[in-house]
Amino acid sequence: MSLDVAALRAQFPILTQSVDGKPLVYLDNAATTQKPQIVIDALVDFYTTTNANVHRGAHHLSDEATRRYEGARASVANFINATAREEVIWTSGTTEAINIVANGLGQLLAEGDEVLVTELEHHANLVTWQQACRRAGATLNIVPVFDSGELDIEAFDRLLTANTKMVAFPHVSNALGTVNPIKQLTAKAKAVGAWVLVDGAQGIAHGGVDVQDIGCDFYAFSGHKLFGPTGIGVLWGRKSVLKDWPVWQVGGEMIKDVTYHEATWGELPNRLEAGTPNIAGAIGMGAAVAWFQSLDVAALRRHEKALLDYATKLANDFEGLRIIGTAKEKVGVLSFLLEGSHPADVGFILDRQGVAIRTGDNCAQPLMKRFGIPGTARASFSIYNTLEEVDSLFAALKKAKMMLA
Ligand code: PMP
Repeated sequence: MSLDVAALRAQFPILTQSVDGKPLVYLDNAATTQKPQIVIDALVDFYTTTNANVHRGAHHLSDEATRRYEGARASVANFINATAREEVIWTSGTTEAINIVANGLGQLLAEGDEVLVTELEHHANLVTWQQACRRAGATLNIVPVFDSGELDIEAFDRLLTANTKMVAFPHVSNALGTVNPIKQLTAKAKAVGAWVLVDGAQGIAHGGVDVQDIGCDFYAFSGHKLFGPTGIGVLWGRKSVLKDWPVWQVGGEMIKDVTYHEATWGELPNRLEAGTPNIAGAIGMGAAVAWFQSLDVAALRRHEKALLDYATKLANDFEGLRIIGTAKEKVGVLSFLLEGSHPADVGFILDRQGVAIRTGDNCAQPLMKRFGIPGTARASFSIYNTLEEVDSLFAALKKAKMMLA
């Protein structure tokens, strides 16, 4: 079955906008996706009819807010095939999710221990481990990538040792679009007894994430890259690992007993969720997940691939354009450079034509240095983009090339 893109687009009110009289062509989906009306409605409805704090009030509104909030947790657990609802920890996003794990790890590491990450990392999955290692006197090792943007698996094997305590890698690279063989990497890491964290910020929106099948210990993602609100995300963790993971933030909601000098921690998921959570955000994310699950994921994937294939063909035919990241397994991310021009200038000229892309280091400065470039222009496609929008991108690039030549 092919995808009815027009019907899908109609659910996203923002996509009808114009920029400077030109139709908006939104190609910055790896930064954040747009929100369907059903998610916007869930947020408005919560604040209009149900707003109260969760888990505390002995009153109707609090009970209803708690029911919806915990219902959203159950939806997310079901979406990623978690074994239990309490394996889903609400966070403010992927960044906070990784910080929770890295901070806990910093308390568990000893001198001589090793952490393994890759050259592909977003800063959120790099700086966190740098800090954890520094605190413990542990070593951070980095798996290199080939020029294609694919990981060097032989180097991964060499760098994985009996001292490796944590292996962390992205499901999908935000800068290059590379899809990593996460099941294979996880199996190798588990064989040496390491914990495994998958940064799923970019992987989650492409569907089909099954945390049990992957076999990892942690999978982190953000609501806003999955058609949900900003300020909400998830740390999924295997229950047997999470239940004893050192706590990071402390305060209300996460405790069991408190005296003036001592405190004990509550059960999962609360022990890792201090303070009043982003209740509306969680409910909005639950709505986004339910909406996404109602779609035909195989058709979405085919559509995204068609967009990427078409854009890649036009890019290859475009004189003076260099694609950064040519992995065989890629999602709809086209990072590129226009010969003789700075990505920021390209982005500026595209914006004047209504085409929204990302320019810069893609929050991956070391990776940009690895490629010897200051950054890229990055067009990233989502399920509601069209082949005509890809044409608009390249028409705008033609103009940019003329103006910058
Ligand atoms: N990792 C990757 C691969 C990402 O693309 C992003 C967001 N750009 C993050 C981590 C951080 O996500 P957030 O800013 O939503 O916390």
